[in-house]
Amino acid sequence: MDTGDTRALTLIGAGLAGSLLAILLSQRGWKVTVYERRGDPRVKGYERGRSINLALAERGRLALRAAGVEDAVMAQAVMMRGRMIHGLDGTLQLQRYGRDDSEVIWSVHRADLNVTLLEAAERAGATIHFHRRLHTVDFDAGTARLIDDRDDQPQDIRFGTLIGSDGAGSALRAEMVRRGGFEEVTEFLDHSYKELTIPPGPDGGFLIEPNALHIWPRGRYMCIALPNDEGTFTVTLFLPNLPAPDSDDPSFASVRSGAEVRALFARDFPDALALIPDLERDWEHHPPGLLGTLYLDRWHLDGRAVLLGDAAHAMVPFHGQGMNCAFEDCVALAEALDRHVPVTVPPGLARRALERAFAAFQAERKPNAAAIQAMALDNYIEMRDRVDDADFLLQRELERALQRRHPQRFVPHYTMVTFMHIPYAQALARSQVQHAILVEATTGRRDLDGIDWDTLARTIEQQLPELEQAR
Ligand SMILES: Cc1cc2nc3c(=O)[nH]c(=O)nc-3n(C[C@H](O)[C@H](O)[C@H](O)COP(=O)(O)OP(=O)(O)OC[C@H]3O[C@@H](n4cnc5c(N)ncnc54)[C@H](O)[C@@H]3O)c2cc1C
Repeated sequence: MDTGDTRALTLIGAGLAGSLLAILLSQRGWKVTVYERRGDPRVKGYERGRSINLALAERGRLALRAAGVEDAVMAQAVMMRGRMIHGLDGTLQLQRYGRDDSEVIWSVHRADLNVTLLEAAERAGATIHFHRRLHTVDFDAGTARLIDDRDDQPQDIRFGTLIGSDGAGSALRAEMVRRGGFEEVTEFLDHSYKELTIPPGPDGGFLIEPNALHIWPRGRYMCIALPNDEGTFTVTLFLPNLPAPDSDDPSFASVRSGAEVRALFARDFPDALALIPDLERDWEHHPPGLLGTLYLDRWHLDGRAVLLGDAAHAMVPFHGQGMNCAFEDCVALAEALDRHVPVTVPPGLARRALERAFAAFQAERKPNAAAIQAMALDNYIEMRDRVDDADFLLQRELERALQRRHPQRFVPHYTMVTFMHIPYAQALARSQVQHAILVEATTGRRDLDGIDWDTLARTIEQQLPELEQAR
């Protein structure tokens, strides 16, 4: 309960963003109380048995560093140097993400990461209440009702300010929208996903190359696999929801049983089939996950409530940036509070100061969230359909050559998003310019022979100012 205390905040959701934000705010002297719908993962076992993992990139690492937990997280992370493309004929091709091992991404286990962050949040002074699902909010009275889903028991609390880190299906957002003045649209993708598992080999080691993000691109659909430090891989199969009228491509409507999924893997992912012994069981026990992009026009209700992470801007997972972006949000919100809310502020002025902080946070982060949402949608096409195309590979070759010639100016799209922390909106704007240059210079070519490097150099100097962070 934080009412009356000008240095108190109530967080809803102790997932990835909520637990990191709880650390950052507690370290700054805020009295932080967090309410989480689920049970304590340290007690209950957090839906163990399956390993769900995420790609952690530089933006996320920077935020973890700011909270002093980077080393603890990285101790359990598995390096991924690039995309390992699995052809239909079983051929393998590693496409590096960066120039060397300083430009890589990391596979982290969602549950382990969450536990690491929760423990650090409690050490920093946050109080976390589990089995408390936000149900309804009366913003004018400053009261909220929470429910314990184990026995449906309600608990009413008083609050001064709520922070919604309760994910894509945010109950706080629903209450803000219900109150009025917020426009919310979720555009669901016409594709969904299922998670499957590759177990460790007989010796406990990895069955396929551990230091890569594996992709089986198949046009309108694909499989990916990320390593876990215990020797397993989490495989995610992305399929359209409905069959395309003009093809016999699989879809969630046409592949319904374990036998049908085995037939699909035998035809389209034969090398993966041999690695997934529990394919039918995984398929039948895991419901398909929906994928969507959430567009919300405002993220805060004056100084009384603010949203961040997926609650404010859920995105499709194809750039591996949802968590990374949510972690950047946490640092941005903590810093906006530093700038706008004095340590001692009279109660009457605290709400106004919080409102200024939330407005500054929204102004900084909303255009960037919109940019990574758009880039994540684009990346789906690239991953499932483009990574093995000749024209795509030639553009990548030219991109690398231009980066070598103009390292401060021509920085590949993936590098800007993944290995740097320039604002996403800036990365998107520069990527659009670069993409046009790459397409124009490679159209009609099979290789880079005869490229007019001088003209390209002039175009790049005119259109792409130097980037300070580039090396
Ligand atoms: C298939 C898939 C793959 C992904 N891969 C990546 C990746 O590789 N890299 C990456 O950066 N991102 C990835 N993401 C995105 C990433 O999972 C999210 O962006 C990230 O989890 C957002 O963090 P969050 O804290 O905002 O939400 P969440 O992690 O969803 O946490 C929300 C928390 O709020 C709790 N909660 C919900 N409702 C209530 C309520 N009413 N009351 C109280 N508590 C509540 C939940 O139990 C949960 O603990 C992926 C997403 C998907 C679906």
